[in-house]
Amino acid sequence: MTTMTMTTGPAAAVLPETPFIVGTAHRGTFHAIPRDYALRALAPGGGDSCGALCGTWAQVATRIGTGAFDRAHLPAWMRLCPACTWTIALQAGSAAIAAELEALTPAVEDLAALEQLVPDPLITRRVCEAILATAGDLTDGSGRQDVVELLAHAAAHAPVLLRDEDCVDTSIDCGHPGPNCPAAPACPACSVRAGDWAQDREGFYRDACTIAAPCQVIGAMAAFYGVEVTA
Ligand SMILES: [Zn+2]
Ligand SMILES: [Zn+2]
Ligand SMILES: [Zn+2]
Repeated sequence: MTTMTMTTGPAAAVLPETPFIVGTAHRGTFHAIPRDYALRALAPGGGDSCGALCGTWAQVATRIGTGAFDRAHLPAWMRLCPACTWTIALQAGSAAIAAELEALTPAVEDLAALEQLVPDPLITRRVCEAILATAGDLTDGSGRQDVVELLAHAAAHAPVLLRDEDCVDTSIDCGHPGPNCPAAPACPACSVRAGDWAQDREGFYRDACTIAAPCQVIGAMAAFYGVEVTA
């Protein structure tokens, strides 16, 4: 796999041969841009930006990985737009849907911490499973936007674990013994995350509005779908 960089050559030369290209937008979220849109955006006078799959205006980002928007090959730290990923997954079928559900399952190290902090760390995954179970035929080729909007809404409110910067940076000894770094579960969608004005701190959670997870959105959807919270 080669890393492609922007050149002055034809736009096609810098884009990987994948249906979707990584797009960047505000708040450090990455979107899927259909390849033909990206080609037009990179053409002379195109301005480098276009609409992503979810409708968000995004900048074509060929410098991230290979430039391909593909969950399996993008680093786990990247926050992918749930509307884009679920749209792709419902079009792609069961393996891609399983990968989206897997992405809603906290990593082992986070799971242990979340179990101490929230009633059910898997609540968002289970809400999405319930949405899928009641959605009926997902293979009718329509892309099922009615289902995507529910899945994307739930996924956007999936709890994340906030830690101190020193605890995340493995080159620093944060001083907390063993796995006992303080952490707080927060909702990324309900909280205010810093925009691009914050430069290298873009996406950071603002003290003025950091909402604890699971938030009311997940609670409401869990109640609607009859998802029991299991401790
Ligand atoms: Zn998107
Ligand atoms: Zn620590
Ligand atoms: Zn929320």
